[in-house]
Amino acid sequence: MIIITIDGPAGAGKSTTAKKIAQELNINFLDTGALYRAIGLILAKSEVRPEFLYEALNDINININKSGVYVNDFDVTKEIRTPEVDELASKYSALSEVRNALLNIQREQAKKASLIAEGRDLGSVVFPDADFKFYLTASPESRAQRRYNERIQRGETANYDEILQAIKSRDEHDLHREISPLKIPDNAIFIDNSNMSEQEVINFIIDKVRGSI
Ligand code: C5P
Repeated sequence: MIIITIDGPAGAGKSTTAKKIAQELNINFLDTGALYRAIGLILAKSEVRPEFLYEALNDINININKSGVYVNDFDVTKEIRTPEVDELASKYSALSEVRNALLNIQREQAKKASLIAEGRDLGSVVFPDADFKFYLTASPESRAQRRYNERIQRGETANYDEILQAIKSRDEHDLHREISPLKIPDNAIFIDNSNMSEQEVINFIIDKVRGSI
């Protein structure tokens, strides 16, 4: 069994890269951002007061699998991908109660089978003993340009400057929060993909993994 982690800021391409590597290596894939998005969405919707956060989290049952993300059996797969939920996930992920609630869910996934997991603190906090750790990043401008292209391709309207601002503000939150801030984990291999294609990044990671096992 192996555990591979990919951490990095918003829009670096972690999800698509990790998903394709999972297919290639025939292992499971875990998008931890989806868990934070689902929690953020549900907590904001239910307007939970801070003193009831712990109880509320105990009542939330999140299930993530190949077909989507479910909160208490309710399908939120599409709803968690809006710019509003980008912000909610970032806001609620700064709370220790939220991070603790998700810690076990994430670790459970690695008990069943080999896993590639991506997020912000996978190599540093969730799986500090992972077999392979990567940190994937790119300049804010190239990350914003990719997000812009994705939205236009999906037929949505998009504004590059707004996306760039949103990326910078999420970086700010994720880098400077007190608990589990985004950082390069010890022993992680650093990849700046500003000038690399997705396939180049995938090949690089797979070569590293195959070269060592
Ligand atoms: O990766 P994604 O953009 O879907 O993540 C949404 C938000 O969830 C991030 O901006 C971050 O605040 C939070 N997150 C986190 N730790 C993770 C994954 C995501 O704090 N491991």
